[in-house]
Amino acid sequence: MPDSTALLAWYDRHRRNLPWRAPPGIHPDPYRIWLSEIMLQQTTVATVGPYFDRFVARWPDISALAAASLDEVLRLWQGLGYYARARNLHACARAVVERHGGVFPRESGALRALPGIGDYTAAAIAAIAFDRRGAAVDGNVERVVARLYGVQEPFPAAKPRLRALASALVPEQRAGDFAQALMDLGATICLPRRPRCVLCPWRACCAAAASGRAEDLPARAAKPERPLRHGVAFWLTRSDGAVLLRRRPERGLLGGMTEIPSTPWRAAPWSIAEAVRAAPASIAWSPLPGTVRHGFTHFRLELAVLAGIGSADGIWSPVERLGDHALPTLMKKVAWHAIAALAAERYGEPAASAAKSGRSPSAARRTGANERR
Ligand code: SF4
Repeated sequence: MPDSTALLAWYDRHRRNLPWRAPPGIHPDPYRIWLSEIMLQQTTVATVGPYFDRFVARWPDISALAAASLDEVLRLWQGLGYYARARNLHACARAVVERHGGVFPRESGALRALPGIGDYTAAAIAAIAFDRRGAAVDGNVERVVARLYGVQEPFPAAKPRLRALASALVPEQRAGDFAQALMDLGATICLPRRPRCVLCPWRACCAAAASGRAEDLPARAAKPERPLRHGVAFWLTRSDGAVLLRRRPERGLLGGMTEIPSTPWRAAPWSIAEAVRAAPASIAWSPLPGTVRHGFTHFRLELAVLAGIGSADGIWSPVERLGDHALPTLMKKVAWHAIAALAAERYGEPAASAAKSGRSPSAARRTGANERR
């Protein structure tokens, strides 16, 4: 049987030094633990670090974050992706202040009732911040447990069994340290490829290491191909060079974010004649060469881009101020694509090379590249 003492002893020697982690002997701050856990959903530790530092510098506690506007939060979140997390983060901060007087509840059941906190996050916060006994089971922990016990059943059917096995491992004492130790083991030793079994405190009791099949686990059912959707984005500039933006509805994909207007995204490609009927202005639209490709969790997207000069209702932004808006990565790609294509058209530079040069919208603006004349 894997021994929690061996893992905790390893953790005491090799724990990662993370910005949200309290030093040994210091009580963890639930606000920092919660913030890091929300940011780490779907994102790596290396990416989250600078975002976490910026958030806690700007909003040092839950009350400060609750008092911020959603726009401010979305702006600081830009680049972390999965923007529903940012909206839930903000809603959760307000709920903790309004329902719990600004103090995080200690039990995972009460934590789960807050916006954006699911089973894993509730268990992680309860364990790390309050030392509550419970298994916080994410992908890393599933991988470690599948290997330890040699579970051959493929994902996702194996999840309930892995959760039960992980729960049984949690010791009575130091549940928070154990949760973090398991996370660190999955992140630094029991890697998806080439696990470093010789350094593992559980090597002697690991079924996968004994059979030499660690890399084959966990077993996964074949993933179906993500469907492809099509849309057309409208790069509308005013005579002063400002670009038309609009705000997406609060609910749904990229909810509350600012976007460059586009048609709905659907399975069938759009003809230009059909697309201009959904355009924000009745003007002469010109198709730009190439397409913008982007991958979402459940589908892939290809956007054609039409450009034109005119006026319409919406948010008008100078190109060099696009960075002030909560533009998701997809919309940044559209902006860069349009700027590069228009620069190519104006200066005779191949569009591909303009795009590859990686000029930011502001750099392109300095060359006058955004102006369609
Ligand atoms: S011995 Fe190897 S496969 Fe087993 S838990 Fe440790 S690192 Fe993972």
